[in-house]
Amino acid sequence: MPSETFEFQVEARQLLQLMIHSVYSNKDVFLRELVSNASDALDKLRLAALRDEAPDVDVTDLHIEIDIDKEARTLTVRDNGIGMSYDEVTQLIGTIANSGTAKFLQELRETKDAAGADGLIGQFGVGFYSGFMVADEVTLVTRRAGETQGTRWTSRGEGTYTLEKVDEAPQGTSVTLHLKPADSENQLHDYTSAWKVKEIVKRYSDFITWPIRLVPEAGDDGDSGEAETLNSMKALWARPRDEVSDDEYHELYKHISHDWREPLETIRLQAEGAFEYQALLFVPAHAPHDLFTQGYQRGVQLYVKRVFIMDDCEELLPPYLRFVKGVVDAQDLSLNVSREILQQDRHIRMMRRRLTKKVLSTVKDLMSSAPERYTTFWREFGPVLKEGLVTDSENRDAILAVASFASTRDAEEPTTLAKYVERMKDGQDGIYFMTGESRQAIENSPHMEAFRAKGVEVLLLTDPVDEVWVDAVGEYEGKRLRSVAKGEIDLGGEEDGKDGAEKERQSEEYAGLLGWMTEHLGEDVKEVRLSSRLTVSPACVVSDAHDLTPALENMYRAMGQ
Ligand code: ADP
Ligand code: MG
Repeated sequence: MPSETFEFQVEARQLLQLMIHSVYSNKDVFLRELVSNASDALDKLRLAALRDEAPDVDVTDLHIEIDIDKEARTLTVRDNGIGMSYDEVTQLIGTIANSGTAKFLQELRETKDAAGADGLIGQFGVGFYSGFMVADEVTLVTRRAGETQGTRWTSRGEGTYTLEKVDEAPQGTSVTLHLKPADSENQLHDYTSAWKVKEIVKRYSDFITWPIRLVPEAGDDGDSGEAETLNSMKALWARPRDEVSDDEYHELYKHISHDWREPLETIRLQAEGAFEYQALLFVPAHAPHDLFTQGYQRGVQLYVKRVFIMDDCEELLPPYLRFVKGVVDAQDLSLNVSREILQQDRHIRMMRRRLTKKVLSTVKDLMSSAPERYTTFWREFGPVLKEGLVTDSENRDAILAVASFASTRDAEEPTTLAKYVERMKDGQDGIYFMTGESRQAIENSPHMEAFRAKGVEVLLLTDPVDEVWVDAVGEYEGKRLRSVAKGEIDLGGEEDGKDGAEKERQSEEYAGLLGWMTEHLGEDVKEVRLSSRLTVSPACVVSDAHDLTPALENMYRAMGQ
């Protein structure tokens, strides 16, 4: 079958240009990316075999192989994993399917300058394409497990790639990099050096659960020795904490999250006893851009006795912790465990409760031990964590304890509810808040006038979920959460000399006007009354204590209700 030439998508072309001309200093990471893909492919094949979806495929010796040819200046990473069909190669390799990469390109367009672009590579990584940082030609040969025909993909990264169906291809995938000419100035980047390759694998991929073997160089007699396994393959979550460095944890995080940045926090948990499991969870340092979209893939990886079972296992953490990444390895589940079984399993529910509490207590610890990291955490994940105030009554107090809010007290520094309560004035009948689109919009509202005049602190809530949780929660430590825009507000009128008699005199005086206004505004209002909540504005619109707020009304209207 003849080979056909195709053009890269515009986005893919931009990305490749960037890789080819990259001055990103840490080029070593290309190997991590190729090994990571190979490892994923092996996981997928073993899973298919477990489910009897890959009959006739030999899964007895699944492994990754690295093959160096010094003379030809090539480096090949080979796996006997699931492989790709012809269509999959066109979809997965020829286009930019990965959402992280799409985000990367978007930021790239906004950045423009080359130095910034290199910083972005460090933040996002771009998987397979990173090979073009070190190679001037890349060839991928692959055959999908169970299929007979293979596919060869080749590109110099310059706008086109060729595709060809091949008859003879081992099952799995091999990626061959034709390395750029040796840089005599910089021995550090000599990827034909076995020593260099060993070092990179050890540093970035030691925990990979499949053997990564270095194919020995043929000796003078053409005889080659035993392949050397470069990684320890030890599951990090099963090793004692003091034996594992932070760097090792971070590499695992990068492998499973496809994030190239360090995580904000690493959380370990070992449960012994009747239902034994180990968990290694990570809180990313940045919220993904699609965290609030419907299709966001949530969940951590589930392993059973060291065997990868599934990505995105939603059953292990509640939806409001969907940003947490990591691995849970359970000893007492069946390898055939399905989603349906997980949903009903009592042990899984207990595990979920325990993991949830552990994440929340970790955030609590951050508040006191690492306030800066806590601030980052809350900025990135506060809006999603607050969903738990509505959906998880069991952990409501724990979430309230780690929540913080913008407040009128200080333009920069948010406050916790506990601190707000400490500062409450004598006789103040609740925790005042106002919801709105932005701090500025709220501060300009007439509802705020009296509070400002009296120096009463108001929490400024600007996340969409705020409308919902304040109602669900109702009170904190016996103090009612009160909207400044709802119902009657009593900020202690006596100090103004407006005692009962004075109020009565005023309502008599204005009874005529109020009646006239109520009549003329007709259907639009329920009542017109005198108020002490304004100091500058002549009038404002107030909801009844149990009415929907304007923002909620908008929300429901938008949802078509
Ligand atoms: P990511 O790994 O983040 O999805 P990559 O650019 O590294 O992005 O890879 C793109 C896709 O190509 C992978 O998701 C996978 O489906 C496919 N792929 C890459 N390498 C292999 C491989 N060795 N075996 C099977 N599929 C692969
Ligand atoms: Mg990848």
